[in-house]
Amino acid sequence: MVGLTRVPGLLFGGDYNPEQWPEEVWAEDARLMAEAGVNLATVAVFSWSRLEPRQGEYDFGWLDRVLDLLHAHGVAADLATATATPPPWLVREHPDVMPVNADGVRLEFGSRQGYCPSSPVFREHLVRLTTAMATRYQNHPALVMWHVGNEYADHTLECFCPESARHFREWLAARYGDVDALNAAWGTSCWGQHYTAFAQIEPPRTAPGPVNPAQLLDWRRFCSDALLELFLAEKAVLREISPDVPITTNFMSILHGLDYWKWSAALDVVSDDAYPDPADPESHVAVALSYDLMRSLKRQPWLLLESAPSAVSWREVNVPKPPGMMRLHSLQALAHGSDGVLFFQWRQAKYGPEKFHSALLPHGGTTTRGWQDTLRLGRDLRKLGELAGAETKAQVAIVLDWESWWGLEAPESMPSNRLKLKELLLAWYRPLHARGVAVDLAPPGRDLSGYRLVIVPNLYLCTDEQAESLAAFDGELIVGPFSGVVDAADQVHEGGAPGPLRELLGVEVDEFWPLQDGVTQDTTAGPARTWAEWIRLVDAEPVASYEGGELHGRPAITRRGNVTYVSCLLDDVTPVLEPALGGLDHVDVPEGVEAVRRGGHLFLLNHTTTRKQVTLPRPGTDLLTETALHGDIELAPRDAVVLRIEGDK
Ligand SMILES: [Zn+2]
Repeated sequence: MVGLTRVPGLLFGGDYNPEQWPEEVWAEDARLMAEAGVNLATVAVFSWSRLEPRQGEYDFGWLDRVLDLLHAHGVAADLATATATPPPWLVREHPDVMPVNADGVRLEFGSRQGYCPSSPVFREHLVRLTTAMATRYQNHPALVMWHVGNEYADHTLECFCPESARHFREWLAARYGDVDALNAAWGTSCWGQHYTAFAQIEPPRTAPGPVNPAQLLDWRRFCSDALLELFLAEKAVLREISPDVPITTNFMSILHGLDYWKWSAALDVVSDDAYPDPADPESHVAVALSYDLMRSLKRQPWLLLESAPSAVSWREVNVPKPPGMMRLHSLQALAHGSDGVLFFQWRQAKYGPEKFHSALLPHGGTTTRGWQDTLRLGRDLRKLGELAGAETKAQVAIVLDWESWWGLEAPESMPSNRLKLKELLLAWYRPLHARGVAVDLAPPGRDLSGYRLVIVPNLYLCTDEQAESLAAFDGELIVGPFSGVVDAADQVHEGGAPGPLRELLGVEVDEFWPLQDGVTQDTTAGPARTWAEWIRLVDAEPVASYEGGELHGRPAITRRGNVTYVSCLLDDVTPVLEPALGGLDHVDVPEGVEAVRRGGHLFLLNHTTTRKQVTLPRPGTDLLTETALHGDIELAPRDAVVLRIEGDK
């Protein structure tokens, strides 16, 4: 097995911010890290103002000592280039480094991520610091991974300043060539927006009414690309100076703002920050979906780079993780393909906005429940080292496309603004997850031939090429509502929906039929909410029909060959999945128990607070307890089994 870094086994640790502590604390940190089995620390994420207190005047001494100390205690470094937040001197000398919001207000220093993604001044200084960092630390024995930026687009996704406007126009000119092509794509004949020069185009700042949705869609594409350019500027420096060290940046689960398919192609290691809400009894399902996305991005193991040992500090009410949940959630990430578990952060902060965010070493020190949990997790992870590098094989893929998502959730111009892609994904994912069926995520253009079942919850924006790729798939295909509506320029396809999917689905959508909040539309396959459609059969068989209301008796679900079309949002899609489920690999588990296969291992995770009985499909050895198990076993509340299956590789 090849791991993500040269550290053997699974990775364990977290963000370490030694600059927030007097140097005499560092020795204790290193000693306790070694005691807990920590083998990776993310260092220097927000350290620019300490590494370069004045322009060109570097102070690397403290970081040298930190890295030496970590290395001496067997802790490797995921070393940040420290560019996540510019220092005050840079902002004061060049105020236009700070981003401007849609109302034209330039944001103030004093938080984090305060930069305009398009600022050439910021980029110049960022490349300079990255060069200095790479030059100094390229051969440090602690260095095993470069950490570029931090949670891109968390606070700063977009900037509306004149420099960003110039960058946007440059991006548009590259996409369209001439302004007439842009006029055609943006449909500027509507509302008198015909442009005669690129110079007339501005970012979609706050306007008197709804902004051109095609302009908004290109703006979303541009903003994702502009931040990616910033990442690539650093990557180029690191590759040049330090070519053998893998590069990552920490993603933020299923994030609307960045096209992670495009981004992940630029990374060596996909890593993710995941903060499921302990107060939400269903949060382990949504987080499993985002973990499956992380594994699918490069189709290789990934790394949970940040999670919370207990409470976070940024929700309205920050509920702690009850006993057992931190361990269970950590094992869940491993089950879904992570090669380690890292946390924000190592030592709980004494000050700042995150001082109440939990940490591996809480305010109360080594006498706390939190510290005992840290020690226990460290012991568990050491028993699971053989999982590093193990792959997952899924027979089901759910299609996700960022451009379509951006179009679907454009403000102010849709038939209903209640269609939220994450909810649509979860509606299909939830019943598969409950049955222990492994699921990949896939972009619409990817080769789907290895899958038996492909689900397209929604593909509002669908190009001819994407439709052809779906038509080429010969397994079971399920397509959800409001798909095939517009092309890449957000223009309605000839003849209306489902546009290029018409032949594949064998139906035509006469009219969208969004439902008011609280209204239920019955169908013979169960109740639907939020969305329905008045469809006509062209070359498809009805599978279920609407019951009651204006749509009574009309087809709701149709089938043509291997393709099912679902024209509404069912409360429970199980009846649609049922015919396809029989032939899929799965594990029978009681409600609230998650079953996940990874390589030759089976994870059984009890997310409930009661004991659960599970019948093992095959005998094996539980790596956590080092016991042989077969037949019926009992899972204690929030407990787990990681079974090495007998006879499997
Ligand atoms: Zn800007």
